Amino acid sequence: MKRRKFIQNASLTGIGVAVGTSIVAGNSKVEKEKELVSSIFKVNTPIVLATWNVPESTQKAWEILENGKSAIDAIEQGCMVEEANEKGQSVGKGGLPDRDGNVTLDACIMNEEGNYGAVVYMQNIVHPISVARKVMEDTPHVILAGKGAEQFAVSVGFDRENLLTEASKKAWEEWKIKSDYKPIINIENHDTIGMLAIDKNGDISGGCTTSGLAYKMAGRVGDSPIIGSGLFIDNEIGGATATGLGEEVLKTVGSFLIVELMRQGKSPQEACEEAIQRIVDKNSDFKNFQVGYIALNKKGEIGAYSIHEHFSYTLYKENENKNYKSEFYNKS
Ligand code: ASP
Repeated sequence: MKRRKFIQNASLTGIGVAVGTSIVAGNSKVEKEKELVSSIFKVNTPIVLATWNVPESTQKAWEILENGKSAIDAIEQGCMVEEANEKGQSVGKGGLPDRDGNVTLDACIMNEEGNYGAVVYMQNIVHPISVARKVMEDTPHVILAGKGAEQFAVSVGFDRENLLTEASKKAWEEWKIKSDYKPIINIENHDTIGMLAIDKNGDISGGCTTSGLAYKMAGRVGDSPIIGSGLFIDNEIGGATATGLGEEVLKTVGSFLIVELMRQGKSPQEACEEAIQRIVDKNSDFKNFQVGYIALNKKGEIGAYSIHEHFSYTLYKENENKNYKSEFYNKS
């Protein structure tokens, strides 16, 4: 961490520049600074935070972190749990298809160094989060789309598989009778995952994976795989991730906004609330769609806020893996 940035971070704690000054006078090695930052923040790591009620995913991520692995490993493995869960109809295998009956997946991952990888509109591969990581680590690019993403996945060893389960096919066939595209406020059994984790080194990474909105137009890509919208990580500050109507998150670059608000001194909770407020202020129609955010800062503080009731998040911290109701805007 650069010295100036470190001092800014230290001042975020309220401890102030005096602490930073003692570091400046002492050893400036990155590892020493990291140790000092952890002791100042007294962060009880690891921490895993995810959108919705996904205890198996957070459990998996926690186990990886407890074994001393990095946050990026935990994010990938945690997200994979829901991607493989055929019962979840908004992520991975079993996700609801677009209006033509094709299951198309979006995912991204971002590590503590600010590296990012994503796949958008990818079909026939169960684990887009892992392909996104491969894009980040093994290619000169950050986003691969559609057929190209699928071809790349196969070339690095992923198997093709039909992602449309009988249950999702049936739901789509029922939807086709009226073919009325209307995003439903996602309040029940939702499992699109945005996940943030801090490992034992105090490093933060994040991931986001989804099958997107049910019965969307062919070719539609939401916020989830787009850096700054569905996910943003800055290892000096923290991270944020989103769920809900992606179009609204995209238009306000919600996750980046939250991280920048935290940089300016807002708590994760205050930052999530302001990001929701921005959406509400621009949309008289806000009663008809849901957006939810979660955020985690380097002090281990968390925030969660949504437009409507019934958004929830799962937090694994201090040996407790629990689902919590989020605060929300629309009380009427
Ligand atoms: N944000 C996702 C999208 O718009 C969907 C969701 O989280 O419900 O694709």
